[in-house]
Amino acid sequence: MDRQKSMKDGLRRRRFLRASLLGGAAAQVAAQTRLPPPREPESGGTGGVSYQTQVTIERRRTGKPRQGQVVCAIQPHCDDVPIFAAGTVTKLIDEGCTGYLITMSDDSMAGGGASYGDIILKNERDTVEVSQRLGCKEAFFLKYPNHSMDIWPIVEMRARLTFLFRMLKADIIVVYDPSALYERNPDHYVTARAVEWAAAIAGSHWDYPEHFRAGLEAHAPKERYYFARGPQLVNRVVDITDFIDQKVNVNLANVTQGPAGNTGSRLRRQLASQGKRLPLLGNDDETANREYIKYFALSRDRARGQAHGLQFAEFFHYIGPDETDVGDFVERNAVPL
Ligand SMILES: [Zn+2]
Repeated sequence: MDRQKSMKDGLRRRRFLRASLLGGAAAQVAAQTRLPPPREPESGGTGGVSYQTQVTIERRRTGKPRQGQVVCAIQPHCDDVPIFAAGTVTKLIDEGCTGYLITMSDDSMAGGGASYGDIILKNERDTVEVSQRLGCKEAFFLKYPNHSMDIWPIVEMRARLTFLFRMLKADIIVVYDPSALYERNPDHYVTARAVEWAAAIAGSHWDYPEHFRAGLEAHAPKERYYFARGPQLVNRVVDITDFIDQKVNVNLANVTQGPAGNTGSRLRRQLASQGKRLPLLGNDDETANREYIKYFALSRDRARGQAHGLQFAEFFHYIGPDETDVGDFVERNAVPL
């Protein structure tokens, strides 16, 4: 029995020694070959399937770091960018971007006016004013049917947007989130879908090659700021505290439609007729309009800011440049042959 036990012990020892030697060799090879860190992009592009996203707070940057870049803000109606993204657009322009405002619908269905034609004209004038107050260089009107954009071929919208992105050399787009939930307005989700793919194929040499014969070049935006009215995957909080008064000024221009315009002065006069006043609205119409916009119409910006320790903020799903980290890894780890 003792002899058998000692034979078994010897076998076990030899196996252990062989395993240790192999393990040591594998560890040595692994030490010589450093592996790149595993990576799953979070913001779209090539992947990222998790609903858990890391939120980045984007603060004001000085020194014009975006000089030479172009931002295109695209909206179905004249009040969409003013309400959800005017702080961020003015911030990007303040940082050096050249801005353009593209309005997709003819804005014939919202606001006060004597007729459809009258409403269209008033909204168009408001939009030109909005564009100037944002600091944009130019406003484009694509004139699709308001409230019925879902009847229009999306491929035609995409073609026009691709042309614009190439012509303007758009680097950044700001638009409704094509993946947001519970959006009920077809103009909103059709615009988002058309922009989403136009921004991708604008960089392709195979799409619309006749553009190149006309002198344009393939050029795709590399950054996307998507805003939404319903639940969305928020991964970017833009601190717009320094730009809130400019945002108020932009919203003040939307007098025909939108939740801003002259609502504050109307409320002030209504209260006065009842022998009352709200100290918040000040002593004149101009102050009443600005304060109403800042504290009522844009109250979501305060709520969003407070949730992140800021005064005023806008929320986005942000998709940044889809850069590979292969080159960086090669530079740091390549060894002579
Ligand atoms: Zn809208």
